Amino acid sequence: MTVSNDLGGMEEGGFDLDTATAEAGRCLLCEDPPCSKGCPAKTDPGAFIRKLRFRNITGAIRTVKENNILGGACGVLCPTARLCEKDCNAKWVDRPIRIGKVQRFLMEHAWATGFKVFGGKVFEKPARRPGKVAVVGAGPAGLSCAAELAKHGHRVTVFEARPEPGGVLRYGVPAFRFETAFLKKELEDLKDLGVELKCSSPVAEKGAAERLLADGYDAVFLATGLWNPERLPGTRKEPGGLFTSMDFLAALRQGRRKELAKSFKGKACAVLGGGSVAIDCARVALRLGSRDVYLLYRRSCSQMPAEEDEKNQALREGVHFILLSQPVGYVADARGRLAGVRLVRTRLGAEDSSGRRKPVELKGSEWTLEVSAAVEAIGYKPVDGSQDWYPSVAVRQGGLIRADEDDCRTSAKGIFAGGDIIRGPDLVVRAVQDGKTAAGSILQYLGEKATTRPGERCLARKP
Ligand SMILES: Cc1cc2nc3c(=O)[nH]c(=O)nc-3n(C[C@H](O)[C@H](O)[C@H](O)COP(=O)(O)OP(=O)(O)OC[C@H]3O[C@@H](n4cnc5c(N)ncnc54)[C@H](O)[C@@H]3O)c2cc1C
Ligand code: SF4
Repeated sequence: MTVSNDLGGMEEGGFDLDTATAEAGRCLLCEDPPCSKGCPAKTDPGAFIRKLRFRNITGAIRTVKENNILGGACGVLCPTARLCEKDCNAKWVDRPIRIGKVQRFLMEHAWATGFKVFGGKVFEKPARRPGKVAVVGAGPAGLSCAAELAKHGHRVTVFEARPEPGGVLRYGVPAFRFETAFLKKELEDLKDLGVELKCSSPVAEKGAAERLLADGYDAVFLATGLWNPERLPGTRKEPGGLFTSMDFLAALRQGRRKELAKSFKGKACAVLGGGSVAIDCARVALRLGSRDVYLLYRRSCSQMPAEEDEKNQALREGVHFILLSQPVGYVADARGRLAGVRLVRTRLGAEDSSGRRKPVELKGSEWTLEVSAAVEAIGYKPVDGSQDWYPSVAVRQGGLIRADEDDCRTSAKGIFAGGDIIRGPDLVVRAVQDGKTAAGSILQYLGEKATTRPGERCLARKP
């Protein structure tokens, strides 16, 4: 398969009106739609597909956007085969409805026809209510929480450390899967809601979250995500040509393609890891012109955390999978440039705590794969020292914030949290879900605060 070397725009096209309505036309109009139960963010595909089937396009768009401020992003990026489409009853007749594609179409159609969901005639502008909320982080969780609160008339300010909003959607996912222009359209709806976005404004000093409360915000939502890459243990000196997935993907999204291509074009390279991020890095390396791209994973193919369609796509494009092989270190040449990855062969042993069979290293099996560039994509964790930004908030081992997924309350009064910073690496749609859940809890908290006399306790989880 020939791989395009265009890294600027989305390679997979969306549906047009005829295809989308034909797809919705296959819907069985289930009484208690399993597709709607399968969406963590409660976007309600059962409702919007039914509306589209009866040509109520406006109603369908409104359902998506009302329920999910990032309906377009989720339509493009959600692993729908294991969410809404998994239990779709149409599979018993033919195949599941392509819900993600229909959802994406509805958003693109809204933009193409100038249909304004918010700030137009569809939703009344909410009456201004007292209560000012600070959201820390403009990724999917923060944006979703901000939208919900703004819809209820509260004043919301989103503080974002980076120059542009979007979180991983802006600085992680490669543009050939999700382009910046698409994200910008999605963000316009947020601005129409009156949300204030303050970029290049990190909330990252000691006690900064508590200070927001002291400065007059009634509640704070922490949605800072995971921006610290896990590293291969034991690497003492970084050879030239070795990247973390975060630096690699962010550099690309910041337009530094030429600089990256110097390390990859015409060369053999390795990507360490078996998740979706590793697959993204491998596919980018191909598009940068690498001669051979090796994906190195310590377990078997069926145990790789990447989605099935992602693995198949990478294989079709020509990525070589080297499985049951544990990277243990790097080899550098005399100039300090990467010359190879040291690997040890593994076999699968007993199940570990995750329920997957553990890789056991085979003695004496070490070998070196000669490559001149490598990308480590072996996980993400909270930024070192980030607990100092919110010292009153209890954290779990590894630095994730302790908050229940069903209410997003933390141990600190008035401070809520959601998205990857409470779950570990997860999905866009779950971050959107947390944003909505947190907004619900914040609304409740603001109501309690308004009726609580000074000195009385408001609801907060104990540490
Ligand atoms: C390469 C890659 C590809 C992915 N592909 C998919 C996919 O196809 N489908 C899918 O569903 N999921 C995918 N994911 C996962 C998904 O992107 C995340 O689960 C999701 O973005 C988490 O959202 P979040 O809002 O919790 O955090 P983030 O998206 O990480 O956003 C957090 C935001 O907080 C900001 N921030 C951090 N610290 C501070 C601070 N102190 N002050 C102010 N702002 C701060 C950050 O700059 C960032 O903008 C992918 C992840 C990666 C890394
Ligand atoms: S489960 Fe499938 S067939 Fe049933 S309502 Fe949802 S999209 Fe239609």
